[in-house]
Amino acid sequence: MRTDETAKQLLKDAKLRVTSGRISLLAIMIKENRPLSMDDASEILGWKGGDRATVFRNLHALSEAKLIRMVRSAGKRDVYELSKRPGAHAHAVCTKCGKVECVDAEAASAQAPGGWRMASQEITLWGLCPACA
Ligand SMILES: [Zn+2]
Ligand SMILES: [Zn+2]
Repeated sequence: MRTDETAKQLLKDAKLRVTSGRISLLAIMIKENRPLSMDDASEILGWKGGDRATVFRNLHALSEAKLIRMVRSAGKRDVYELSKRPGAHAHAVCTKCGKVECVDAEAASAQAPGGWRMASQEITLWGLCPACA
């Protein structure tokens, strides 16, 4: 499968040990193209991802290697997304089920106060997802 090949190459480029669990994990991050929690990832991966401890360790390894990043201020759960998503986008977080979605919006940017030098930006929109609304 093509996505698996892409994932494999990304792991190699990042000088990470290439394991089937890591390939599958990175491949679903690419395929789903939305922020995923460890539970989401284990659920989608099924047996392919290994046990939960393995998925957890692999999420850490991928984020250490900067292939994925943790989405901050995303409520109760830690969710991860591909690092190469554009920097200036917001996240919509469901306050009921914890679902997180990326919002591609030019408007998703804030002006820093004068004299400040900002390192990053996290904009979060809180509310209810379609399933919970
Ligand atoms: Zn929801
Ligand atoms: Zn995002």
